[in-house]
Amino acid sequence: MSKRINILDEVTINQLQAGEVVERPASVVKELVENSVDAGSSKVVIEIEDGGKKLVRITDNGSGIASSEVEKSFLRHATSKIREIDDLYDLYSLGFRGEALASIASVARIEMITKISDEPVGTKILVEGGKIISKEPVGTNNGTTIIVKDLFFNTPVRQKFLKSTHAETINISDLINKLVIGNPSVSFRYINNKKVMLNSPGDGKLINTIRSIYGKDITENLVPIDYETQFFRVSGFIGNNNVYRANKNLQHIYINKRYVRSKVILDAISEGYKSLIPINKHAVCFLNIEINPSKIDVNIHPTKLEIKF
Ligand code: ADP
Ligand code: MG
Repeated sequence: MSKRINILDEVTINQLQAGEVVERPASVVKELVENSVDAGSSKVVIEIEDGGKKLVRITDNGSGIASSEVEKSFLRHATSKIREIDDLYDLYSLGFRGEALASIASVARIEMITKISDEPVGTKILVEGGKIISKEPVGTNNGTTIIVKDLFFNTPVRQKFLKSTHAETINISDLINKLVIGNPSVSFRYINNKKVMLNSPGDGKLINTIRSIYGKDITENLVPIDYETQFFRVSGFIGNNNVYRANKNLQHIYINKRYVRSKVILDAISEGYKSLIPINKHAVCFLNIEINPSKIDVNIHPTKLEIKF
């Protein structure tokens, strides 16, 4: 007997897509904070409860979303950042696939409050499991607040795979460090269960941002670097031989401000430090590589962590 072929509905498609984009609470934080940065925010507040499983709230002072566009932002492939595939090669924003909000909304309860400066009032919208529950005008500041509650409430199998509150919190904290280091011009505040964990100055100075996270012990042992060739520029800070770690957590590498995992670059760092630090230890570095966007492909990994040169 042949099986019937089903055409999946929109919510199911978004839930499947969510499997790629939203693995854990940290992925929600990543996507939402990147959206805030893309919206030109100078201040971003990140609040989590219960390792982000119960609640993630991101508040920014960026562009906001016009009332007439709010529903659209939750549709799959809804993006204000590209129009056609060629735009990818000329892209400086962090997001572009237009699937983050649709994916997150399909597996959680979302409340978004947003306002653009051109409109006198803002909009509040509730979306649960991909369905719009309500939309109403609301008095609020310019910018956007997104609250994501009860992640995976409607996909119990995925909920089962979430780790302990402690483990999910560590994941989020590591990720926030990376986002903060990558954006020294944005002031971030990170609050975990009502406790302030981090407050970055947002004064545009990378060294001050690093100090706000890792303190004096690290910053005192950093050496500034700035190296430019015809094809790229590498700038930032690298550790001297007095500072190293048992793992690679303090190797922050960014390409055009996007945090990346690049084996080629990590191997080059290990090679360079081989004779300087003890064996089995790892160097500390905070590097931004600026390269013409047309020379790299950021579209090879769903969360854009890996990159092709
Ligand atoms: P992408 O970031 O890939 O464009 P998203 O699903 O993350 O897709 O967001 C969809 C659209 O919603 C964005 O392109 C942007 O126009 C709008 N948006 C999302 N978050 C914000 C925000 N914090 N401030 C302003 N606009 C936002
Ligand atoms: Mg996005």
